[in-house]
Amino acid sequence: MAKIQMKNAIAELDGDEMTRILWGVIKEKLISPFVDLKVEYFDLGLKARDDSDDRITYESAAAIKRLGVGVKCATITSNAARLEEYSLKKLTPSPNGIIRAELDGTVFRKPIIVNNIKSTVSCWKKPIVLGRHAYGDVYKNCEIATDGPGTAELVFTRSDGTQIRRTIMEMKGPGIIQGIHNLDESIESFARACFFYGLSENMDVWFSTKDTISKTYDGRFKEIFQRIFDTEYKEQYDKAGREYFYTLIDDAVARVMQAKGGFLWACKNYDGDVMSDMVASASGSLAMMTSVLVSPDGVFEYEAAHGTVQRHYYKYLKGEKTSTNPVALIFAWTGALAKRAEIDNTPELKVFALALEKATLDTIESGSMTGDLAKIAEPAAREVLDSWQFIDRIAERLA
Ligand code: NAP
Ligand code: MG
Repeated sequence: MAKIQMKNAIAELDGDEMTRILWGVIKEKLISPFVDLKVEYFDLGLKARDDSDDRITYESAAAIKRLGVGVKCATITSNAARLEEYSLKKLTPSPNGIIRAELDGTVFRKPIIVNNIKSTVSCWKKPIVLGRHAYGDVYKNCEIATDGPGTAELVFTRSDGTQIRRTIMEMKGPGIIQGIHNLDESIESFARACFFYGLSENMDVWFSTKDTISKTYDGRFKEIFQRIFDTEYKEQYDKAGREYFYTLIDDAVARVMQAKGGFLWACKNYDGDVMSDMVASASGSLAMMTSVLVSPDGVFEYEAAHGTVQRHYYKYLKGEKTSTNPVALIFAWTGALAKRAEIDNTPELKVFALALEKATLDTIESGSMTGDLAKIAEPAAREVLDSWQFIDRIAERLA
């Protein structure tokens, strides 16, 4: 069979640990036999990032912007333990944080649904997509641990040198202080990305913050969303019979637990980080959650929502064949290939991406799955496979 050709390349960002191992197997068994892959490859493994002082991460972000489509493996965010484990020069920031900031993107996370894995929230029948703002707040904070009494102040110095100054607290003893920020422009991009995504998926959009407490900060988010919706999207939403509504995050959480799903829930950076893990674990497994970073100028980066699955990797290093679930990694590839196909107008590539997704879901629905899913499958799994066997089953079906 002749391999499917690609017009343009995608940026491929390799990663760490167990996901790096599976990444290679997926390419070898599920993609390369069928597609003449065109990629610009970047090694974002921790050591390579450290060796290049993160230059490789910035280069990969530039490539995603230039090519329009990227696919990323999970990567280690360094901490003290990793510093020692990998003999690093220094602690480096999260590569995802760097790429999100470079692309000014919004992250959309969507559960992958199969009919033999029931959500632990029984009313959820359709996916709940989480739109996570990917700029600022605590992810770009400035923190001080103080050593005694004093005055904590918030100071803004305008470019002309004049200042706004507020007292945060007269602190009577040692404590902690944190400064965070966001930018109107980034919030506007976030709002547009959400409304754009909602329309393209034909979904209602919910947005929630804590504006009753944070009247200025969260209040600004609420204001901007409403303005962008009213001036740029309302007409299209009316036409599509879809709606946007804002509600306090407490109320949103209560409503989500009683909803059927099938909507986009837009969240600020931290809320989205936490709530997407909740939605993912209720939907079955962290490995059944896709993640795509969308920039306001229409650049897409696809990845799995989970991390590098460190615990499984250490077993793998001892020679064990682990039952790590590769589904979200496979869907990162299919998402990227399908988007490349859409942009390049190469329908055969899109058909291939959809066929690979279907072969993956059909394999699970036929009762063949990895251990994480076998624990919760209904009816019970027919066979519990290690990652390599599971990928082989998908490959047989796909062929
Ligand atoms: P993790 O890799 O998401 O794994 C946490 C646990 O979730 C695993 O031990 C496993 O549970 C389960 N799990 C996650 N993915 C799975 C899969 N595909 N198949 C089966 N089970 C899966 O989180 P972590 O171990 O806390 O973090 C490891 C590294 O990942 C860290 O260095 C962190 O910085 C990084 N990380 C990267 C990203 C990213 O690049 N997007 C995101 C998050 C974390 P059991 O052990 O119970 O089987
Ligand atoms: Mg998280």
